[in-house]
Amino acid sequence: MDYKEYIEIVENWPKEGVRFKDITPLMANGPAYKSSVDEIVEYAKEKEIDVVVGPEARGFIVGCPVSYALEIGFAPVRKEGKLPREVIKVDYGLEYGENVLTIHKDAIKPGQRVLITDDLLATGGTIEATINLVEQLGGIVAGCAFLVELSYLDGKDKLEGYDVLTIMTY
Ligand code: IMP
Repeated sequence: MDYKEYIEIVENWPKEGVRFKDITPLMANGPAYKSSVDEIVEYAKEKEIDVVVGPEARGFIVGCPVSYALEIGFAPVRKEGKLPREVIKVDYGLEYGENVLTIHKDAIKPGQRVLITDDLLATGGTIEATINLVEQLGGIVAGCAFLVELSYLDGKDKLEGYDVLTIMTY
């Protein structure tokens, strides 16, 4: 399936100079959404994943259906102040902005094999921060999966030594 058919490129959004890849048309097409997620489900089976972790908000769109399909848990990574119980945190930089990410302290048990999911890999800052949180909790990052990779932003450089699956590359 040519998934790129379902990605809309929005010029100068959310700010001047950014060519935003909008995945909502892919999500709107049931067979395309299912098929792209199924590729990640197969990858997660190969990697013997125990738990899926995804950063808000689009990491949930990719990660939750993978968890559901495999009957394994999903742990949300959220911006500061959004999770109700004890959290650990990390500071990170975005392609456009600055942020703090958090995860519940009991979200991952030491030694669990974790798949990290997000819609898109740009500079790699978000995923690097998410890896940091998982590893602080003693999780093993067994794989990272994205629908889209912007290869010209070299995010994969931050993921050296980790296994990465991307469904589409620009
Ligand atoms: P990174 O941290 O620079 O790799 O940026 C990736 C994060 O920003 C992901 O959580 C994406 O959801 C979001 N993001 C950055 N650029 C885009 C885009 O063009 N389309 C959709 N999401 C984007």
